[in-house]
Amino acid sequence: MTYDIKTLAVRSGIHRSQFNEHSEAMYLTSSFVFENAAQAAARFSGEEPGNIYSRFTNPTVTAMQERLAALEGAEACVATSSGMSAILTTAMATLKAGDHVLCSSSVFGATVQLFSTILAKFGLNTTFVNGTDPAEWRKQVRPETRLLFVETPSNPLTEVFDIAALADIAHKQGALLAVDNCFCSPALQKPLQFGADLVIHSATKYLDGQGRVMGGAVLGAASLVNDSVLGFLRTAGPTLSAFNAWVILKGMETLNIRMEAQSRNALELAQWLEGHPGVDKVHYPGLASHPQHQLALRQQKTGGAIISFEVKGGREGAWRVIDGTRLVSITANLGDTKTTITHPASTTHGRIGAEARARAGIKEGLLRIAVGLESVDDLRNDLYRGLSGKVG
Ligand SMILES: *Cc1c(COP(=O)(O)O)cnc(C)c1O
Repeated sequence: MTYDIKTLAVRSGIHRSQFNEHSEAMYLTSSFVFENAAQAAARFSGEEPGNIYSRFTNPTVTAMQERLAALEGAEACVATSSGMSAILTTAMATLKAGDHVLCSSSVFGATVQLFSTILAKFGLNTTFVNGTDPAEWRKQVRPETRLLFVETPSNPLTEVFDIAALADIAHKQGALLAVDNCFCSPALQKPLQFGADLVIHSATKYLDGQGRVMGGAVLGAASLVNDSVLGFLRTAGPTLSAFNAWVILKGMETLNIRMEAQSRNALELAQWLEGHPGVDKVHYPGLASHPQHQLALRQQKTGGAIISFEVKGGREGAWRVIDGTRLVSITANLGDTKTTITHPASTTHGRIGAEARARAGIKEGLLRIAVGLESVDDLRNDLYRGLSGKVG
């Protein structure tokens, strides 16, 4: 019996305790007790399945992993303490010194930092590829390329990458394709269906969905995830706490309806922004004007809930819009039910430097909004103030 994603979101990953609780229990314990010495030995050797120590197994974390795996259609999932630790774990588990990585230049700012500075210290070479054209990616492949890494839609410009085409390039080279599915979540897009090998999540975003906790996850085939990825987590310990796992587990129950409603709001707002004289350009995959609109329609259920747009007047114009708001939150997080606004050039992408920003097409007048569940009329009024110079 296979259930629909809406059913899986509320019904998968449930293992009731002897008390038969209806809501999922939270297991706040560091370790688990054995019946006797022989059982302890059998658990440690792997002969007997079961929990040992919460650095690598905890029933609440397991429930969250099973639910997310069910939603993504993945064989296996390993939860991590944050989205960045999910990316670090992926790299540490699948790569070694001398390997080459092709990473999109349009990824989360900290992801660029991780590959270009920290992982580079350990002999990993990363080429940042500009743009979405698969031919450009094919050109940059080397014999030692082992991983292709992409976000689609990308942060903050919502560029859409052809997952099937990139998977093909990776596989011809014997490399893996990892897709950061943060912006869509499995409610809108399932990268494994298009041939990706690994899906990465910042559970901090839409999976929690209410801006409460940090978390991350790596998903894919059991042979890869339960072996290399879990192996790294077990030893190195970028573990998700049981409390955070429980919050994310319950957050996923409303993922589908949140993504539908927030996408609907985003589309309406994007259409309005596109017609506003204070706006030069709107980046939103749900608009016909988006360069990969057709591809987005094939890969994603909706355009998602994130819009970026370029306002007239560069940084000054962008900051005027931010400072003119009374309702939307000026904060770097996204994926919340509350709408958030950021100026990428001076915040999330500030550390990567002007040159890398220019390469990634992040202009001074660019703003990113992650649209929440408020009324679109109220959001429009909130942005209108700064856009039309009526601040104060
Ligand atoms: C936030 C984010 C991350 C990092 O996740 P954290 O949970 O903040 O560590 C990675 N990728 C994308 C696309 C993000 O938005």
